[in-house]
Amino acid sequence: MQSIQERITALKKKRNAIILAHFYQQDEVQEIADFVGDSLELSRIARDCGEQVIVLCGVWFMAGSAKLLSPQKTVLIPNKNAGCPMADMVTPEDVSALRQKHPNAAVVTYVNSSVEVKAISDICCTSSNALKVVASLPNDEIIFVPDKNLGDYVSRFTDKKLILHSGYCPTHQRIFTEHIDIARREHPGAKILVHPECTREIVDAADFVGSTSQIINYATQSDDTEFVIGTEQGILYPLKKKNPNKVFHMLSPHFVCPNMKKTTLEYVLHCLEEMETEIRIDDGLMQAASQSLYKMFAVK
Ligand code: SF4
Repeated sequence: MQSIQERITALKKKRNAIILAHFYQQDEVQEIADFVGDSLELSRIARDCGEQVIVLCGVWFMAGSAKLLSPQKTVLIPNKNAGCPMADMVTPEDVSALRQKHPNAAVVTYVNSSVEVKAISDICCTSSNALKVVASLPNDEIIFVPDKNLGDYVSRFTDKKLILHSGYCPTHQRIFTEHIDIARREHPGAKILVHPECTREIVDAADFVGSTSQIINYATQSDDTEFVIGTEQGILYPLKKKNPNKVFHMLSPHFVCPNMKKTTLEYVLHCLEEMETEIRIDDGLMQAASQSLYKMFAVK
């Protein structure tokens, strides 16, 4: 009898599909994927790959971005209930209200947002390129949605005035300086690497701040051999795979995004068997929302 992995591989071939997984996915999902990356990398692969079917193992907004960049392809999300609470914290009405209050400001929207919000934004950004995106704009005022922590981090590197929305990632928000104190005590020689979705206190207390890909690159290129990781626990899988001789600890055992863990191999198999759930975006929305992503890709 075939294993679930063998059944997924056979079906993937039959459907001419590619499986893309985010770094925060469960280990076995990352293992079956053709490519594992952060949101920016996944949307680029989705756009450039030759396969007609994209299985996006991540949360809803990631599959939405893949569809915006690959309108002719079939984009499937294995578990349709995998949402992102941060993305749900900002609505198009919130953005319109901020625009009315700050008519000279450009709207920079973190990709962790709905298609509807992207559609009324000037440009998108990720945690890897947020600084560059903000710097690329002529406006002196920037409305930054939805992540107040990433926005606050960006505001330290620019003279522009950032108007922050109140959104946040519940998984990164529940990390406190006590976790840093404990890590420094228990692992005195380790470097602490955190994501800019963490609060200012955590960012200030860390040794390095970067997106998931930047954290992986930093740990891989560093001469240090022990690290404490301040982002979602799924990142341990690529970190350990790339660095089998280095030691990694989590900053907190609670660094788990429940939505990222909703995708299982069973869901991936079902998704390929039934070709569901397919991401569908209406044409008008597609046009407007994809512009904000294309503008982001144009920033060098
Ligand atoms: S880790 Fe945070 S930002 Fe990422 S999907 Fe989960 S809730 Fe959303």
